[in-house]
Order: sequence, then C-alpha cells, then structure tokens
Amino acid sequence: MALIVHKYGGTSMGSTERIRNVAKRVAKWARAGHQMVVVPSAMSGETNRLLGLAKELAPAKGSDAYNRELDMLAATGEQASSALLAIALQGEGMASVSYAGWQVPIRTDSSYTKARIESIDDAKVRADLNAGKVVIVTGFQGIDDAGNITTLGRGGSDTSAVAVAAAMKADECLIYTDVDGVYTTDPRVVPEARRLQTVSFEEMLEMASMGSKVLQIRSVEFAGKYRVPLRVLSSFTPWDIDLVEEAASGTLITFEEDEKMEQAIVSGIAFNRDEAKISVLGVPDKPGIAFQILGAVADANIEVDVIIQNISKDGKTDFSFTVHRNDYARTLELLKDKVLPQLGAADVVGDNKTCKVSIVGIGMRSHVGIASTMFRVLSEEGINIQMISTSEIKTSVVIDEKYMELAVRALHKAFGLDQASA
Ligand code: ASP
Ligand code: MG
Repeated sequence: MALIVHKYGGTSMGSTERIRNVAKRVAKWARAGHQMVVVPSAMSGETNRLLGLAKELAPAKGSDAYNRELDMLAATGEQASSALLAIALQGEGMASVSYAGWQVPIRTDSSYTKARIESIDDAKVRADLNAGKVVIVTGFQGIDDAGNITTLGRGGSDTSAVAVAAAMKADECLIYTDVDGVYTTDPRVVPEARRLQTVSFEEMLEMASMGSKVLQIRSVEFAGKYRVPLRVLSSFTPWDIDLVEEAASGTLITFEEDEKMEQAIVSGIAFNRDEAKISVLGVPDKPGIAFQILGAVADANIEVDVIIQNISKDGKTDFSFTVHRNDYARTLELLKDKVLPQLGAADVVGDNKTCKVSIVGIGMRSHVGIASTMFRVLSEEGINIQMISTSEIKTSVVIDEKYMELAVRALHKAFGLDQASA
C-alpha cells in the first residue's frame, strides 16, 4: 500500500463525463489498496471565464485590493471541480471528502495571484485517509495569515499537488494531463521527437523554463527540493487500463543518481521564440557599468536572460542581453531615455526577431565537446550564432528566429534524439 497523489488538469475535469472517468480511475487505485489524495484543476476554461468576468467589470489594476478579489473569484473554479469529483467518487461507492485550500489549511504568503506555499497541515487529510476516504484537495489555492484566499499563479495546481505530496511524504505524485509525457523536444517542431521514460529534475527545470509547458516550473522546483517522485502521464488512457501498466507510463522526473535514469548526454532540445536582443554600444569600460544598465532594467521589473559583455577596445565595450519580446520596446526606451545619457554610451540597438535554442542534458557535465558539436551542426546549416550562454547542463544560442525550426531539427538529429523509424 502506498500513499499516492493524483493531479488532474482542466481538460481531464472538463465535463461531468470526464469527471466520472477520473472518479473511476481514482477508485481503481484506491481499491488496489492505495491511500489516495487527488488535486484537481478547475474545469477547462473556467479560470479564464471567471477572470474574464472580472475584467468586464473593471480592468485589472494590479492593486492588492483588486487582486485579492481575483483570487477570491478564481479559487471557486477549483472548489467546484473538487466537490464534483468527491460527489462522483461517492457515486462510485467510494467514501470521499473534498477540502478547499483554507480548510486543509494550505498556508501561503499574501502575494495575491502569485502566492507561495509556506506550509501545509496534513492532520485532517491523514485522518480521512486512515478512515478509508479518498481526499480531494483543491489545486491552485491557499490562505494567508490574515485569512484571505490566495492563488498560486496560472497553472498552479501542479504546485499544489507536489506540495501536498511533499507534506504527506507521498510515495509518488502523478500529474495526469493532456500530453503523455515529456518529450525530447516539441513534437510539433520535430515529428521524430521521443517521449522520455525518465528525465532529471534539473533537466526538467531547464526545459520547463524554456517554454515546454508541461508543468508549472515551481512544481518542478518544489519536487526537486523535497524529493517528491513526480510522473507526468496521459489522462486519456481508458480508466480501466491495467494499474501496473498505468503506473509505469508517461515520464518519471527523477534524481540523477537513480539508476532508472536514461544515459543520454543530451536529453532534449529546448527553444524559446520570444527572445529579443538589445545591445548597448560604446560603453565606457569601468566598474559599475553592468549594474547601471541591468539595474535600471531590473528596477523596471524586466527579466533579463542571456548577457554578454565583450572585452574593451580603447576603453569602450559593447554590452548585450536578451529580454522577453514583450518587454523589448519598453527596455529600448528606458535605456535611451534614462541610461544612455548617464552612461555616456554611443548607442542602443536591438533585434526582436531572435530566438533561443538550447541543448540540455546532465551528461554534459562529464563530457567535453558537446557544445562544439552544437556549433558545428549550426555552422553546417549556415546558421549564424549571435550569442552563446552556458550552464553546467545546458548550452544556449541566440539566433535569428527564422532559423529556429531548422536548428532544432538539426540538433535533435545530431544528438541522436530522433526516434528510430519503424
Ligand atoms: N485553474 C488554474 C489555471 O487555469 C490552475 C491550474 O489549472 O493549474 O491556471
Ligand atoms: Mg496545467
């Protein structure tokens, strides 16, 4: 007997028929002798619908007072789906009880719309499990010290599920979703992409932050920190599929030392279309330059990704970095108006038609020459590299966006990730 957490996304909870299927699947696990905690998202479209209603009445102001009400509102989506699932389970003859975040309670800080979980009291849930009930805990929400309802940011039910699994010391947290696992790259770009049996937490973080949107990044961080075994699997298999087969399907996100890890040097090719490059030219090369430029950008709440500073010539240097494309115009303006005059730099130029392509793999730690293979492959395709950045387990290049798909396909093939053709 194990303690298992299941998380079901909005699509899996999208209609009463689907909720009934979820209930049958969960009941199957419970009847196999497992203690079951289930964390559902709102029914698909519901969170958008609710937030849309708010916007109709008053545009988002970003104020605490407004955001508090958004959380109050959005949290009802999960409350409804959780109660429906408990009712469906009871309909299957399974004792079941649902709890909203505040009832558990799941305590968070007070940052409305993007709150962070601080602690979870597991007493109530554990007592119900021991009484033989399936326990449903709403995803996405919690309560702050003052008793306000908070939410964890879009896609936050993943994080709720992992946090509940961590607090309960669950044996595994299974995230049921509309894809059947984590792929070597986006199959829409490379049809030969393969599903990974296992991937490490660190690789998953690098891939998640590159926009492979299978899981909320925070949930992966959480799972890594608290060592919660996490599995991503399809919710579209028939509910009565053999449990052993189901339990081994999808992708297991696991620890490096785990011998179940696949032994690939490069595990995946990640990419991000939304990168924009900005260069400050002719900057006097003296202490404080990076701080003056990037400090101003950070103060404007703009996130910076790849950064390069060149060696100087005649006391001047060029300084380049990338931001999200949505922040491009604002960053250029800010630098031109506020930073250039103070800095005595020559000019600011930019390009918002760039993208970032990365190879990711923990095997890169112990193998040399991986980055150079990447550069060779790109040169053979005639793709010019504009910027390079590396970490222990990732090498990224910034290139012209029109070459993105070509680069991803060529790298996927060169690193042996294409699935063997049948
Ligand atoms: N319902 C929330 C959202 O749509 C949370 C979630 O589904 O994970 O963002
Ligand atoms: Mg999701």
